[in-house]
Amino acid sequence: MAAYADIIIDIAAPVLDRTFQYEVPAELQERAEVGSPVLVPFGNAKAPRRGYIVGLSDEPKVDRGKIKPIADIPERDLSIEDSLVALAYRIKRRYGGSLYDALRTVIPSRQKIAIVPKRKVRRAVTAEALAEVLRNLSKRETAKARLYGALLETEEIPYELVTGKLKITAAALSKAQEEGILIVAELDESESEPGEGLTVTLNEEQRSAADTVAASLGSGVFVLHGITGSGKTEVYLSVIERALASGKQVIVLIPEIALTYQTVLRFYRCFGDRVAFVHSKMPAGERYRMRERAKEGKISIMIGPRSALFTPFPNLGLIIVDEEHETSYRSELTPRYHAVDVAVERAGMCGATVVLGSATPSLETYYHCERGNYTLLTLSKRAKEGARLPRTEIVDLREELKAKNFSVISRRLRSAIEERLARHEQVMLFLNRRGYAGFVSCRACGYIARCPHCDISLTYHNDGTLRCHYCGHRVPYKKVCPECGSAYFLPFGKSGTQKIEELVEKEFPKARVLRMDADTTKAADDYEAILSDFAEGRGDILIGTQMIVKGHDFPNVTLVGALAADLSLGVADYGCAERTFDLLAQAAGRAGRDRIPGEVIIQTYRPDHYAITAAAEADYRAFYDTEIRYRRSFGYPPVRHMLTIVGGHRREETLERAMEELAACAREIAETAGASVIGPALPQMPKKNDMYFRVIYVKSGDIESLITVKDAAENWMHGSRGGVGLTFDVD
Ligand code: ADP
Ligand code: ZN
Ligand code: ZN
Repeated sequence: MAAYADIIIDIAAPVLDRTFQYEVPAELQERAEVGSPVLVPFGNAKAPRRGYIVGLSDEPKVDRGKIKPIADIPERDLSIEDSLVALAYRIKRRYGGSLYDALRTVIPSRQKIAIVPKRKVRRAVTAEALAEVLRNLSKRETAKARLYGALLETEEIPYELVTGKLKITAAALSKAQEEGILIVAELDESESEPGEGLTVTLNEEQRSAADTVAASLGSGVFVLHGITGSGKTEVYLSVIERALASGKQVIVLIPEIALTYQTVLRFYRCFGDRVAFVHSKMPAGERYRMRERAKEGKISIMIGPRSALFTPFPNLGLIIVDEEHETSYRSELTPRYHAVDVAVERAGMCGATVVLGSATPSLETYYHCERGNYTLLTLSKRAKEGARLPRTEIVDLREELKAKNFSVISRRLRSAIEERLARHEQVMLFLNRRGYAGFVSCRACGYIARCPHCDISLTYHNDGTLRCHYCGHRVPYKKVCPECGSAYFLPFGKSGTQKIEELVEKEFPKARVLRMDADTTKAADDYEAILSDFAEGRGDILIGTQMIVKGHDFPNVTLVGALAADLSLGVADYGCAERTFDLLAQAAGRAGRDRIPGEVIIQTYRPDHYAITAAAEADYRAFYDTEIRYRRSFGYPPVRHMLTIVGGHRREETLERAMEELAACAREIAETAGASVIGPALPQMPKKNDMYFRVIYVKSGDIESLITVKDAAENWMHGSRGGVGLTFDVD
């Protein structure tokens, strides 16, 4: 039993943003747990203040004489909120920002809860009659087509799913009800729909994976590495069923973009009313209501994007993170936590099992497996009978240039598209332009200018220099390729999806072309509408950014084309090869999901880059081995940890001076803590909205030393050196 406790005081006051150590009197030691609410003397106040224990230890951190004893630990069971406070504290400690921010992330503020009846949308006519109505719809009635199509497949659908994920308005529903096609039924809160349970028989690999996880329920982190289409979801369902049977609750994290109607419905079918889902576009009151229902035990499975991780289940037994490699699991708001790591943290605190699923696990996750921290489970085959991995072909764009084909579509890809159109099969074309950053590459030989110190690509600046965004290294830009002497050594231009759409429409005038990117999906759930149009055959070619390659199931897609695989290879950070591999491997997973064999064509200027060849061969291991060697030799995560400190200010000179000072101060601390400091350097975006930015990187083999540097930098910032704002990012 611990003699000392770290305590945070009165959570409503953001100024008290640190812990204080107190002595735990012997008679209270039995009740002192992480998360326990306590009463402690504080400052000169007469009445004791409320606080929470966030850590326990046997050692005093300061002179024993200065440590006061805890006044009382009220005798009661810890509430779920109490333990979430402790989780918030750990998030703050690891990722920086204030405790107040961390608490708001974990425990959202109280909201008015609207009383919403439990409702279902039920089909009121026979399947045949509905199919007839569906056939007679005009092409423009896409919402109706979606709704009727869904009702044809499933007789009864939860109301929220129809209005939310299917994006059908309440008005449209009542109109359809008037027409006698469906009934919106109100259910009694006590009426419950148990779901059908598991309906498929797991194959050998799936069963073995599910059994291994189920046997360890209550602890452990498992990585379910299964190729696309290998049936990871069925494994989740099987494990969830067993967790529920033992009275536990379950959180399933799915990236927002993959949280489609089909996915949610699959869980509903299996588990009925015990399932709830949240998404970021849901009104705050609605999300709050879901939390309350979870706390009261009215639901047992919560599905949602990263914020669902903080669902207050009192008896959480299992956390599943699907597509765990997705970058959307990293929060862009302070604290910039990583949901995968926090899932592992929360599970460890409450005795739950974690399952991380992916076809392309993040390097960090796989590295944990290699080191024996996580257990690796593998699904190596596509689950559906007859479904095979697609054939993949790499097209060398340098050859196109030689053949005087300046189009973004190679000759090979063009003829493959024509074939598909003739056979009435579907095509997906994607452009991985995320993080496009003005890197310079040679179209004749594929050479990319890189920093000799950091081995990341250099970025073109308007002053005619190429610069490294890690260390500041710079060289003058010359239009001639240093490798082959060609005059095609140019900054990568912007060829957006819209331009490609125009081009495709011109080259294939008979094809129906759909486009999905940030512009066409501005409104909530727009992408859902485009996807279902495509899924239901109202388009021949779908063009889009990486959005289109995420976990959707289109049985009729037999060709996937990656237009310029190099775009994501040129991004100026150490993770770009990993993202390129992920995208290409995921894109390949979209083709040939059903019995018709699929084909993938990857266009690139660098046909022999390991990220591209490994993706083409669907060989994760080959990619991992090469990539981890590179990370090791340059000391990048996951081999070492890296803290990124971005400073911003309106005046460039003030910022530069302050960041130099901070870097010097960080170097001093880093030296004793065993870390190294790089910078200050220019970040990807050196100026934005009249704010200037500089960045400092700190690398270390041990995360604790980074936390030391981060805490020192936070203190330095609070000392307010000219008002420079800092944000922190770990790994
Ligand atoms: P993943 O998430 O691994 O990409 P899914 O879970 O979406 O794969 O499964 C792919 C397809 O295989 C789905 O249509 C699913 O219904 C089907 N499937 C999964 N497991 C089995 C099985 N044991 N037998 C037959 N079909 C299966
Ligand atoms: Zn060249
Ligand atoms: Zn560099």
